[in-house]
Amino acid sequence: MHLARFPRARFAHLPTPLEPLPGLTKALGGPDLWVKRDDCTGLAGGGNKTRKLEFLLGEALDQDADTLVTQGAVQSNHVRQTVAAAARYGMACEVILEERTGSKATDYTRSGNVLLDRLMGAKLRNVPGGTDMNAELAKVAAEVTARGGKPYVIPGGGSNAVGALGYVDCAIELVRQADDMGLVIDRIVTATGSAGTHAGLVAGLALIGADIPVLGIGVRAPKETQEANVHKLAVETARLLGHEDRVTREMTVANCDYVGAGYGLIDEAVIEALKLAARSDALLLDPVYTGKGMKGLIDLARSGHFRDETVVFLHTGGAQGLFGYQGELEDHLG
Ligand SMILES: *Cc1c(COP(=O)(O)O)cnc(C)c1O
Repeated sequence: MHLARFPRARFAHLPTPLEPLPGLTKALGGPDLWVKRDDCTGLAGGGNKTRKLEFLLGEALDQDADTLVTQGAVQSNHVRQTVAAAARYGMACEVILEERTGSKATDYTRSGNVLLDRLMGAKLRNVPGGTDMNAELAKVAAEVTARGGKPYVIPGGGSNAVGALGYVDCAIELVRQADDMGLVIDRIVTATGSAGTHAGLVAGLALIGADIPVLGIGVRAPKETQEANVHKLAVETARLLGHEDRVTREMTVANCDYVGAGYGLIDEAVIEALKLAARSDALLLDPVYTGKGMKGLIDLARSGHFRDETVVFLHTGGAQGLFGYQGELEDHLG
């Protein structure tokens, strides 16, 4: 495996810190919790999409694209980071926002990531929840081509094999940091959605032979679907790197018991997780992904699931989305 063989644009702030979480560790009575700060990747607020975008932009620039086309939910962190990458490289950005949560609240539809998307000059269009988003992407790309532009289409979450290379790189970076510190990692926990982050980690850890299990906490799909999506993409990513045989089905594990009412819908346990992380370690999580991931981690820790392990929680970012949920959060902070 040799990542330098792939075109890559360099803008992420790397390596991101690997830090202990003494407050949360104490509050939960263990496991020994650490956090990999991928909320600090630096691109207009950062988050996990920034690592994927380094490889996706590498390909887009190679193809002389002048317009990035992508999609996401209204409060998508992926969209914000893609809009930022486009701004940084002087490209246009066409965005399709899916009204996936059904929320019409002003903070959800106008603040948080949406405000930042508009600030950075994105062209946004909204479609109803349940729309065939891949068909919409193709339609918008065709419009760009018809007006003489050169589109580069980035799938939802930047989750294809090229994007997942960013998390192969993260796996290598994390293991190197732990080795340098003499820290033995027993498990990595991450929120898992469009699958690229989880798949890239699984592929990267498999290719370096690290034998560190990854637990994905699902935010949308049921377990069978999520594991199948992640496994398929991990195999594709390993294939791109020339070692598809190294990734086995057992390496992909997702727990989707913490989705609650659905994607982007929060509940009391999510708010408790947001508060506990903020008040124990000044860690700002997000309502859609890391808040749900932490909801799962807290519940599993309290039920003795991790015992005496050292667990690294991957902070995938998204705190900008908190402002899209102001109305749902502010009465619960007392
Ligand atoms: C997109 C996102 C995730 C999920 O990553 P996937 O690669 O889509 O599975 C997790 N956390 C945050 C904050 C995100 O924006």
